[in-house]
Amino acid sequence: MKAVSLQSGSNGNCIYVETKDLRILFDAGISGIQAEERLRTIGRDIRDVDCLVISHDHTDHARCAGIFSRKYGIDVRMTRKTHSVVMSSASCGPIRGVSHFEPGEIISFGDTVIETIPTPHDGVDGVAFVVDDSRSRLGVLTDLGHVFDGLPELVTELDGVFLESNYDVSMLENGPYPAFLKKRIKGPGGHISNAESAGLLSRAFAGRLKWACLAHLSEQNNSPAIAVATHRAVLGGGVALSVASRYGISSLLSL
Ligand SMILES: [Zn+2]
Ligand SMILES: [Zn+2]
Repeated sequence: MKAVSLQSGSNGNCIYVETKDLRILFDAGISGIQAEERLRTIGRDIRDVDCLVISHDHTDHARCAGIFSRKYGIDVRMTRKTHSVVMSSASCGPIRGVSHFEPGEIISFGDTVIETIPTPHDGVDGVAFVVDDSRSRLGVLTDLGHVFDGLPELVTELDGVFLESNYDVSMLENGPYPAFLKKRIKGPGGHISNAESAGLLSRAFAGRLKWACLAHLSEQNNSPAIAVATHRAVLGGGVALSVASRYGISSLLSL
């Protein structure tokens, strides 16, 4: 399995995963052109993507789903509730070729399955994902809300993970955001912090995890250097850690 973040953060999310027989995009929060050009830099044609799976209705994940479906003919999977909210926002335009799944359902594509995991994040019907190609398991875990029941155990059964590491606690508390927004981010439907991510990964690296890519970093309340330093303080220097960029494609990762 190979995976790469094309962009990650509140300004737009899109992660590409390929297995022996399947090419998947998770989320369409960047433009079709951006996705097409960034995939081309690693020798992939966006028209070969089999399926776009949308995690939740927030615009940084769903805003360009219509373009991906109409321009490139990519089939789209999302929950029924997410679909209806996305369609009611004016920006997306019609989405072609949509199939629905229920949160918690396993979507099967031959030897590869996508497990959908309901999250307490404050979208209408959010899910995170595990891709299992019957040889290895990859987590695509952002917009998690909080460290919900079952998440620590789930992370320890992964071989690779894109894991939300949204904010540094003291930067958020001392930063410029208004009080209501600070409360939302720290609250049960918001995002998980660098320290929470590091706690999850310390369990996972003690298990079978080979690498982690820190994802969905806040622009205002985090930085790649601070996120990595917080993780290194917990995990030490010996584990494979990278950061998904808010501005472009990150390194191609393999399992
Ligand atoms: Zn998001
Ligand atoms: Zn969100």
